[in-house]
Amino acid sequence: MDIEQFRKAGYAAIDQICDYYSNISNVPVKAQVQPGYLIDQLPREAPENGQEFDEIQRDFGKLILPGITHWQSPSFFAYFPSNSTFECMIADLLSSSVSNPGFNWICSPACTELEQVVVEWAARMLGLSKEFWGSSGIGGGVIMGSASDSAFTAAVAAREKALRRLSLEAGVQAGDNGQIEIPDEIRQEHGQKLVVYGSTQTHSLGAKAALMLGLPFRAIPVSIEDQYSLRGKDVREAIEKDKKAGLVPFLVYATVGTTSTGAVDRIAEIGEVLKDYPTAFLHVDAAWAGVAYALPQYRESLRLKEVNEHADSFCTNFHKWGLTTFDCSIFCVKNRKDLTQALDVTPPFLRSKEADAGTVIDYRNWQPSLGRRFRSIKLWFVLRSFGISGFQKHLERGIEHRQKLTEIVERSNTFEIVTTPNLSLLVFRLHPKDPKDPKDNREVDDDKLNLLNQKLHQKLDSRYDIFLTQTVLHSKERNIFCIRLAMGGVNTTFEDVKRAWEIVELEGDKVLQEDDLV
Ligand SMILES: *Cc1c(COP(=O)(O)O)cnc(C)c1O
Repeated sequence: MDIEQFRKAGYAAIDQICDYYSNISNVPVKAQVQPGYLIDQLPREAPENGQEFDEIQRDFGKLILPGITHWQSPSFFAYFPSNSTFECMIADLLSSSVSNPGFNWICSPACTELEQVVVEWAARMLGLSKEFWGSSGIGGGVIMGSASDSAFTAAVAAREKALRRLSLEAGVQAGDNGQIEIPDEIRQEHGQKLVVYGSTQTHSLGAKAALMLGLPFRAIPVSIEDQYSLRGKDVREAIEKDKKAGLVPFLVYATVGTTSTGAVDRIAEIGEVLKDYPTAFLHVDAAWAGVAYALPQYRESLRLKEVNEHADSFCTNFHKWGLTTFDCSIFCVKNRKDLTQALDVTPPFLRSKEADAGTVIDYRNWQPSLGRRFRSIKLWFVLRSFGISGFQKHLERGIEHRQKLTEIVERSNTFEIVTTPNLSLLVFRLHPKDPKDPKDNREVDDDKLNLLNQKLHQKLDSRYDIFLTQTVLHSKERNIFCIRLAMGGVNTTFEDVKRAWEIVELEGDKVLQEDDLV
């Protein structure tokens, strides 16, 4: 393809995207295909000779789109929003045009420096304390592909930090560079005794990070009374039990906005407990809810001050609710050396005079992989074109949709809201009340209700015009099967939310009619 052919095909691709978005409300949100649908239509081998580009481009519509679940559809209420915006798509295209692996400053100075700038824009917009800002010279942030990558990276940093601490306690002196080299004996003696903590509501990234390091993950039970948030006393109890067995706490994952219900762990309580365990590192996973710190009125309920005071690292995904096309996970640390001391491996061919002089950041030392995408341009385009005020308005719209829906559900005689809703997420279940006395919550046992709600979920799941996901809330008291309705989609209006709720009510009525409960 030459430049003129690219110009033509590029314009055609933009037209294709415009057509897609013009029609997105009219297509079913869920892909209506069976497993293998695409594999069966594609040849087993790549073509011997190049094909007409027109034809390839047409096949995107013909073969690919039918197998796409439309996360940008206004009827998408599953998991969490994963918003994309036109501003960001253009940024992504431009990023592709200068494609490069950006691992060192010298690879492309703009990639590194723009990342430094926009991550700090994000940190300031969210109200993260100065310690997390790159301009502090001590802390700073980096853009990762996912919250899971951020959490894993935090775990690697935390492990090295804990082992350095144990080395220091064993009398190891810092070298000429002021750094402690962890002796092999310490690594061997303590490396396998390290334990990761989270709650039963922690995203699977916690267990996965522990798994990748070959270390145990303790999922500490939470209580309904505490609205599924992790308490300091329970963290202490779990740690004490392990300490008695000779194990070493080195990492706690606390969550601001859990996946199931949007619960916010008691960060200050946990932070206070961890003061007694100096080997422990606190990572705050705010993958979904963290962007809402852009709204000052929500900072207290989302415990921002506590995060600023107690967290060693923090992560939020702009690629969820935050208008930024996948992927863009902001990962900030209070001490960048926690990362670089764990991840800096510099063979001669990666050295540069700028890095040797200590004047630049080489982001390869802040993450597991060497190469990295030029993601900062996406966030730069988003934050500039929306402005902080536009970003805030977008978030407020999602919250307002949830608030209005809450009022509707609260009036219902057949549904109940399961936990106090947070931000734009509503968690509910079918729970029929006595029609003669709606105030009197009829006692129906949980097993029965769980079955009823599984049936409802099956009915909703078999529809293609709406997409909601289920969850099971595990707690010390009992397990509750419920359904989540995640708002905040950039293309979703309140009319769409209302229509979705009408479908839920309709399917709920069907379940009740089929059941002998009423
Ligand atoms: C979505 C989510 C994750 C997973 O995010 P990835 O970027 O896909 O790794 C983790 N934790 C929470 C709280 C989330 O909402």
